[in-house]
Amino acid sequence: LERPATTDSLTGALNRGHFLERSHQELERSNRYDYPVTLLVFDLDYFKKINDTYGHHGGDEVLNAFAETITAQLRDSDVFGRLGGEEFAALLVQTDLDVGLQIGERLRRTIESMTTIVDNEEVWITVSIGCTTKSAPTQSIEDILKQGDQALYAAKRNGRNRVEHYYSDE
Ligand code: GH3
Ligand code: MG
Ligand code: MG
Repeated sequence: LERPATTDSLTGALNRGHFLERSHQELERSNRYDYPVTLLVFDLDYFKKINDTYGHHGGDEVLNAFAETITAQLRDSDVFGRLGGEEFAALLVQTDLDVGLQIGERLRRTIESMTTIVDNEEVWITVSIGCTTKSAPTQSIEDILKQGDQALYAAKRNGRNRVEHYYSDE
């Protein structure tokens, strides 16, 4: 009974609201026990072209395969959600920036080599990933998401199919 309220019906990932709620709880826990937390923000590359070529239902199948593949690679303790459209996020608990970047790179490569069959055709996608870490106990999940978005924007700007991390102004 709890499912429809907390998960996205297409991919089974947490929906945006529940992702934020769970992440907020994880940030509080990380502050209490003083361990690092790193966020990955994902946006599929040129996804409009996937829809144009294989139709909306083809695009949906690719989104589903993406979410399934990422979920299989994350730990149960990580928080994975669909922020909207073809944008997702993963909050990696007890993970610092260096390890988060390694995980992001591994996920990027996994998606690059993933094949989805749509109407008997093989479809390939790539994903751009922004990576950032909580730098102070006062940071909210919204603050961290903003940093992740900036890093994601850099990954797009620098050519897509890349992982970039956030640089603070300081
Ligand atoms: P970029 O590399 O810059 O991200 O290019 P893009 O084409 O992926 O651009 P953008 O992220 O702006 O476009 C996202 C597209 O995803 C637009 C929209 O039609 C499609 N989309 C959003 N939600 C869904 C969905 O639930 N199903 C399907 N099939 N497509 C979706
Ligand atoms: Mg997008
Ligand atoms: Mg996109």
